[in-house]
Amino acid sequence: MSAIRIAVEGCGHGTLNAIYDSIMRTCRINNFPPVDLLIIGGDFQAVRNLRDLNVMSCPPKYRALGDFHEYYSGARKAPMLTVFVGGNHEASSHLWELLYGGWVAPNIYYMGAASVLNFRGLRIGGLSGIYNSRHYAHPHTERLPYFPGEIKSIYHVRQYDVFKLYQIKEPVDVMISHDWPSGIEHHGDLDGLLRKKSFFKDDIEKGELGSPPARSLLNKLKPRYWFSAHLHVKFAALVDHGKSLGEEEEEMPMQEGGAERAVSPVEKNPDELDLDMDLEEATGVRVTSQDEIELDLDEEPETVASENKDEIELDLDERSSGNASVSLKNAVSENTKAGEPTSAAESEDAQASSAPLVEPAPALAGKNKVTNFLALDKCLPHREFLQLLTIPITKSKSGLSYDPEWLAITRALNPYLHKHPSALNSDAFKEGIGQTIAEERRWVEENIVTKGKLGVPKNFQITAPIHEGSPTAQEDRLPESYVNAQTTAFCELLGIEDGTRFAPPGSEAKEERYRSFVANGGGSYPRGGRGGGGRGGGGRGGRGMWGRGGGRGRG
Ligand code: 5GP
Ligand code: MN
Repeated sequence: MSAIRIAVEGCGHGTLNAIYDSIMRTCRINNFPPVDLLIIGGDFQAVRNLRDLNVMSCPPKYRALGDFHEYYSGARKAPMLTVFVGGNHEASSHLWELLYGGWVAPNIYYMGAASVLNFRGLRIGGLSGIYNSRHYAHPHTERLPYFPGEIKSIYHVRQYDVFKLYQIKEPVDVMISHDWPSGIEHHGDLDGLLRKKSFFKDDIEKGELGSPPARSLLNKLKPRYWFSAHLHVKFAALVDHGKSLGEEEEEMPMQEGGAERAVSPVEKNPDELDLDMDLEEATGVRVTSQDEIELDLDEEPETVASENKDEIELDLDERSSGNASVSLKNAVSENTKAGEPTSAAESEDAQASSAPLVEPAPALAGKNKVTNFLALDKCLPHREFLQLLTIPITKSKSGLSYDPEWLAITRALNPYLHKHPSALNSDAFKEGIGQTIAEERRWVEENIVTKGKLGVPKNFQITAPIHEGSPTAQEDRLPESYVNAQTTAFCELLGIEDGTRFAPPGSEAKEERYRSFVANGGGSYPRGGRGGGGRGGGGRGGRGMWGRGGGRGRG
């Protein structure tokens, strides 16, 4: 029996340097052993260059290149394995290339729209995006060049991906979602939450805070840990599954319709923004999709921390630490000496020697009686954005590996990726799919597991050009689309069609529609702080936003 050390961070928002610095510093100051794995809960902003920035949905004042491009180009290396899900502020052009998951930079792995991975015996599931009922029942139809509506819809959680996660039968240790599972606020210190975020009150009263599908997944999968971000506040909760254990499992909520009005590239979407309604009420500012403004509801400082000295909260509060989680702070009997390497990469051996555990290890397998939920803030000074945990593990296999059950589910459901999700709705389908997955599971055993191909290959490759020059230079073009060799390799491994290369109906004519959209004054995406931007459509648009050259397009 050994243990792994995990750091969990809330929203990334392009502040990778500060996040890594904070973790390394904490370990150094407290003589903690290095962290084996960092989990980031979304809004990661894997922006490779200024073109990617043009398709990142983001309030103008936050529209900045950020730290990520240095990890992408190789100028910096992530000091520990980092895994993240997508949120609602992402370089969607980049993440789409890795729909099934993949490396965005060496040592930094994106979990894809949804996936399950194994890390040293720890089974980690992830769901990217945020919930929005308008696009839940849509297939993934967004393709470059994105219309403004697509820049937002692309990060909305899809029923298809939730359905896949819903097919999981084997126990999950950790789940990650960007937005909170709905109703989770009632399983922790709600009053404390409302003291910090009083403007959540209305949503909470209406039962509208958080993601309904994430909650269904929490009830179904009963993971030991669930980590979220998005609401920019630390909140711990404990969900007791005791009553529902063994009872019939609840049905996954399905939503009919939706795809009939599939995301039209020329849509006029009067209620485009998730928060539009709240914003109009809260601010009295009329918001239309043309305006495309997003306001911060929590009035955060404009600058991002470059350093964080003492703001790190190490303990889960009592509600959730009492049970299964062991905070690293409580585990200081671990005898790393001061002056030992602080980088996980430098000290593989040190961490392999099993550290004394504070509590006997709870069994990893089996349905869990409780889920320890923890949401964290984003990385700013004096904010609770980081949590260190030690989790006992039963296996010590190193590295990140694919999950056989997830591979089987992916093989079984990939043919439905671009279909209307009502195809998944019938009772007959739901009964049959279990059998199909079981058959695919045998295929995975034979063709992947027994052939030793479960390890996630370290096959990161640059696709879009690296950023050079000033981080604030003017760039009006949209990103080009690339076929990512990692996705090709994954689909070949699984023997499935590459869903990122599927052209949805109408996409042949899309470039032409986009061209006329731009010619008519569309296509200006506001940029704050760089003299461009502002809120109007038109303006700087013109042909400038037309970002496609010949390039390595979809094949
Ligand atoms: P973002 O994803 O834009 O970085 O962060 C979202 C911000 O909007 C957070 O500060 C959070 O407080 C607020 N927010 C996000 N979703 C909701 C919601 O459903 N209801 C309310 N009241 N606020 C939200
Ligand atoms: Mn967010």
